[in-house]
Amino acid sequence: MPLMKSWVTSANSATHPFPLNNLPYGVFSVDGDEPRCGVAIGDMILDMQAAEEAGLVQLTDMPLFDVPYWNDLMEQGPAVWTALRERLTSLLAEGAAEQDKVEPLLVSASTAELHMPFAVSEYTDFYAGKNHAFNVGTMFRGPENALPPNWLHIPIGYNGRASSVVVSGTDVRRPWGQLKGPNDDAPRWAPCARFDIELELGAIVGTSSEGPITVQQADDHIFGYVLLNDWSARDIQAWEYQPLGPFQAKATATSISPWIVTKSALHPFRCNTPEREVELLDHLKDCGPMLYDIDLEVTMAPEGKEPTTIARTNYKEMYYSAAQQLAHHSTSGCPMNAGDLLGSGTISGPTKESRGSLLELSWGGKEPLTLDTGEERSFIADGDTLTLKGAAKGKGYTIGFGDCTGTVLPALNDPFQR
Ligand code: MN
Repeated sequence: MPLMKSWVTSANSATHPFPLNNLPYGVFSVDGDEPRCGVAIGDMILDMQAAEEAGLVQLTDMPLFDVPYWNDLMEQGPAVWTALRERLTSLLAEGAAEQDKVEPLLVSASTAELHMPFAVSEYTDFYAGKNHAFNVGTMFRGPENALPPNWLHIPIGYNGRASSVVVSGTDVRRPWGQLKGPNDDAPRWAPCARFDIELELGAIVGTSSEGPITVQQADDHIFGYVLLNDWSARDIQAWEYQPLGPFQAKATATSISPWIVTKSALHPFRCNTPEREVELLDHLKDCGPMLYDIDLEVTMAPEGKEPTTIARTNYKEMYYSAAQQLAHHSTSGCPMNAGDLLGSGTISGPTKESRGSLLELSWGGKEPLTLDTGEERSFIADGDTLTLKGAAKGKGYTIGFGDCTGTVLPALNDPFQR
């Protein structure tokens, strides 16, 4: 499908992240007013609350956009998701009969503040990138034991904290934690010295389920995707992770990009998971292309300086799709709900430049990076701004994700010293 033309002319560009083909969903406010749902089109945002009140968008008997989150729409299910997308496309397409009614409901994106696009019900983070799992396992346990014995059979993960999820642009405070000392029996209490990012994609569950669901059903439950940065305190993690996995190392913050890119917008970019090294059990087998060809990159900018691109990779590097992760998540009977957020796991490619964490890029601090500013980094320094970017590139158009960015603030004084 080529670039779809809109009467919002800024959207008609091969490189703009938000053409009519995309229509991502966010929550915005202007001049400190109440946040409300909006749809990005070119350099503008369509005010969904106003569009609904004006009778331009009526999908159900009940209003869906009188709340500052997209959960109410998500809960309506795939038929309503499709109806909304079709309605928005017809309202914003070149030659639309309603242009004069819609035009006054557009807000310039440059004047808008962006908020969390949905209320996060629960948050689970997976570990489904094979290059990442192999690299980290090699550093921690050696190449022979790099992949745990379960890794090729299930997408392993841990239950994170919904309360830690913040929207792009939110500052992140360097945490304190218990760190391994010179001997295992003498840990220290100190600010994290190995603060890191994880480049991930977040899948958003749109409709609830009870009991086990198939991979195909799981894909039908997924509403859309965001970029996700799983901020990680490596020194806290190294001490605490055995045997129950990450805990406080991952609880400081998880940043997401402000626009939900729908599964429909990404449909042309579907691709298969890589060849299986061992056959999966039937209930986790692929049943169609459920990964996406999305170019990803990470930039790092010291305070007041220009950013340097430190990694470039692609979401198709993952070993398991979000649908497989969601299906596995449900196998125990675990109820899943609208607004559940599933982190993909760090997306690393096979080459050094395509690694999605500083832990891997600097190989545990042994091979520091040199930024374009000349500064060296193994992990994040105070004042650094880390930004994730993502875009699927079609013929003549781009499906962009808004940037997922965050600046790391220095640790506070010891919170337990008075
Ligand atoms: Mn992670």
